[in-house]
Amino acid sequence: MLFLNYVKNHAIIFTKHVRYFSNSKSFHSKIVRVRFAPSPTGFLHLGGLRTALFNYLFARANKGKFILRIEDTDQTRIVPESVQQLINDLKWAGLEIDEGPNVPGAYGPYTQSQRTDIYQKYIKILLENKSAYHCFCTDRRLNLIRREALKAREIPKYDNRCRYLTDAQVTDKLNKGEKSCIRFKLRSDCETFEDLVYGNIAYDVALNEGDPVIMKGDGYPTYHFANVVDDHLMDITHVLRGVEWQISTTKHILMYRAFNWEPPKFGHLPLLLNSDGTKLSKRQGDIHISSFREAGIFPQALINFVTHSGGGFDRDSELRHYSMAELIELFNIKRVNSHSTRLMPEKLLEYNRLALMNEIKNENSLNNLITEVKNMAIKLYPKENEKGLLQLNENHIRTILVWAQNRIHKLSDLFAPNFSFLWILPTISNLTYDEKLYDIALSLQIMLKNEKENLKKDHLNIILRDFSVEKQIRFIDLMKFLRLVFSGLEKGPGVAEMMEILGKNELLLR
Ligand code: GLU
Repeated sequence: MLFLNYVKNHAIIFTKHVRYFSNSKSFHSKIVRVRFAPSPTGFLHLGGLRTALFNYLFARANKGKFILRIEDTDQTRIVPESVQQLINDLKWAGLEIDEGPNVPGAYGPYTQSQRTDIYQKYIKILLENKSAYHCFCTDRRLNLIRREALKAREIPKYDNRCRYLTDAQVTDKLNKGEKSCIRFKLRSDCETFEDLVYGNIAYDVALNEGDPVIMKGDGYPTYHFANVVDDHLMDITHVLRGVEWQISTTKHILMYRAFNWEPPKFGHLPLLLNSDGTKLSKRQGDIHISSFREAGIFPQALINFVTHSGGGFDRDSELRHYSMAELIELFNIKRVNSHSTRLMPEKLLEYNRLALMNEIKNENSLNNLITEVKNMAIKLYPKENEKGLLQLNENHIRTILVWAQNRIHKLSDLFAPNFSFLWILPTISNLTYDEKLYDIALSLQIMLKNEKENLKKDHLNIILRDFSVEKQIRFIDLMKFLRLVFSGLEKGPGVAEMMEILGKNELLLR
């Protein structure tokens, strides 16, 4: 079944691919090229991660390239450090970039603020073929138009006045040094386009908007223009981006036409919503990718979580851990739902538990986990560490991890207060010598030595009850004594349970 789906998936993409390139005039590459094009205005959040991930999966499924492009033409909104943080977050999530600011490629630079001379060259083409024009309207005039429209309860839009200036008037104003920006002439004859997710889309942008500014007075392009020029020059074949951009796509297609370029294919990804249907906000601290990392979420758990709802995969709804390779194989853009996707927060920890089990299965990642647990313990118990009281032997940590894998959701669960006995060796200063108890301890030691396997809780409970009858000691006193011996604690989890967790070797040691 899986194999059939795989074939189906790829056959669809393949025919699409052939059709696409046979129509194409300007693409010389036959390779699928997709890009993730964030603006560095903040840190990566779940919506951005999903967009990046779907681009990545699409690229890998089609043996194509995944490009990172930084869209930083709005210099006023840049958040310092966010590009590096974004690159780190993508890497942490397992999305390898083929070309980008940090990975040289043939289509660079990959940061828009380093491409201003390119935009200058291409804006001239649109000015020359009369698809764009200088606009001299002042902020004052534009504000006035806006206010008038609002008063009349209409959607404010530029009235395209400067479109009708003569060449002589334009030259005159430019010669006089009047400030201007450049606007693109919207037309009403934009054909519909086939959205890979939403199907046929028709939207008359000229009816709803005034001519958009494509180059600002400061010589920086706006998003729409730079985005189109770069997607073309970078040979982008498929644009997969958030649905909030769908309304701009006809505008972009008009620009491709004005250049006489073939537009790429477009697919828009539906909104990601909170489980209650409210919008995910970039400002919610807890949805930054780095906050998941800091909370002990495994990258692949987060990936499974964002792909849990919303479709996009040839798979059933069974909750299980999918590796990146499996997701690549099962990804099918045709199966992305076109209605908004609601995240299910309760699934995140469940996926984290599955990811943890997966890490424990593999010897290499298990070794990494052991190191991580060790570091966590040292950080959490600095005093005990100094006194040499931490039990951080690799075999011990390994036993604990294997025991815990079905029971915990995060590594930090191993450091809940009632688990401190796992890591801190008991000090016997509060034990008073008692012959009966000493005798029991010896018998227990002999018994444990003879056991081949670690004893289970229920079995231990029976043995300990027998001991208390045989040695004529109250069960409760025996438990108190053993708890002290094994954990140094007067209160804590059940003794038999604690003994099961610690395992034979550790019990003998203690
Ligand atoms: N810079 C845009 C953003 O931050 C990119 C939109 C697109 O992919 O075209 O979402």
